[in-house]
Amino acid sequence: MKKVLLLKFGELFLKGKNRHDFIKLLMSNIRKKLNDFDCLVTETQGRIVVENYDLESEDEMISKLQEVFGLIAVADAVEFETSLSEIEKVVGDVDFGLVSSFKIEAKRADKKFPMNSMELAAHLGGVVLDKNSNLKVDLYNPEKMVYVEIRTNGKTYVYDKLTSCAGGLPLGSAGKGLLLLSGGIDSPVAGYLIAKRGLKLEAVHFHSYPYTSVQAKEKVIELAKEISAYCGEIKLHIVSFTEIQEQIHRNCDSEYMITIMRRIMMRIAQKICEQNDLGAIVTGESLGQVASQTMQSMNVTNSVVSLPVFRPVIAFDKEDIMAIAKKIKTYETSILPYEDCCTVFLPKNPVIRPTIKRAEFLEKNLDIESLVDEAVANEEVLTINCY
Ligand code: ATP
Ligand code: MG
Repeated sequence: MKKVLLLKFGELFLKGKNRHDFIKLLMSNIRKKLNDFDCLVTETQGRIVVENYDLESEDEMISKLQEVFGLIAVADAVEFETSLSEIEKVVGDVDFGLVSSFKIEAKRADKKFPMNSMELAAHLGGVVLDKNSNLKVDLYNPEKMVYVEIRTNGKTYVYDKLTSCAGGLPLGSAGKGLLLLSGGIDSPVAGYLIAKRGLKLEAVHFHSYPYTSVQAKEKVIELAKEISAYCGEIKLHIVSFTEIQEQIHRNCDSEYMITIMRRIMMRIAQKICEQNDLGAIVTGESLGQVASQTMQSMNVTNSVVSLPVFRPVIAFDKEDIMAIAKKIKTYETSILPYEDCCTVFLPKNPVIRPTIKRAEFLEKNLDIESLVDEAVANEEVLTINCY
């Protein structure tokens, strides 16, 4: 008998080659995640098993696995050669502590086993009751579940502890995109949510040094590290926005300042995407949150790029976004009080319903192409990996 971790993954509608690719990618992500631990990761019949590891590292490994997209749960299980007497012994030895009700869930994939799933569950329920006279079976609201899985490979798994994981799809299964990462609360959450649907990320951050501080940049690097625990290695493009902002400030209407800044950020983002083979732009915008996040504002910023723009938190309330930020542990960093480039030269009355026509008219005062080219040419690139 040996201790193993039994990993469960979702999205069972995936079939054929897709399913194979999905599992292959998931396995590779799991191996990367567990790189620091000596262990073996294998797959049989829709289950991934982690074995041959140091028991002392088990809790730490489980916490790491909770950050792997595509996994639904980790079961802390024992594995042994299938035999009814051994199953009875293992289930009979389960520690029920102080609980008063339980349920056995049995799954017999191996049709050669003499009892079907229902019969086995009922039989094992009896075994438990014989040993623990104070317990009762509760099929609808049990205080404790015990799971028994008889696989076709001759192995049985028994577990009573399931830890839920992040869910979603394996990182990389949806391709690669570029996250506009500010120092705020929303964009790290947006990155987390879209990576959870399988999009691998690079990130771009715009700073306005010396109007913004060195600490503001450090804060964004810290945020990139924090989401990298989920999103894998992130190439972080750090782009100076100072010259662009000064020029907009000098040459354009102040009420259109943010609109034009956003349009230039999008153009730079698209250029970085083209150079790095990235297929989408991701932002942390939420409808109606501020003047630059109205439908009309988003239309005016979208119109300068041809790539899809994903806005995972578009329909989320701030409270909902904050709850996720706390869960993924970016919140404390996000609320550190350093300024963002968007708060420098902030106009008193930003336009709420900008038009493309007016934005294009004002942009005639700028040499957009060379501003964009120069900003990208002078970018600083960091590779961040806390996966
Ligand atoms: P966040 O909390 O993500 O900063 P926010 O509510 O402060 O968002 P804005 O400042 O209007 O909203 O920014 C909207 C989005 O534009 C951000 O979510 C982010 O994707 C992008 N963005 C804003 N500032 C920057 C920046 N300095 N660098 C990179 N992206 C930025
Ligand atoms: Mg912001």
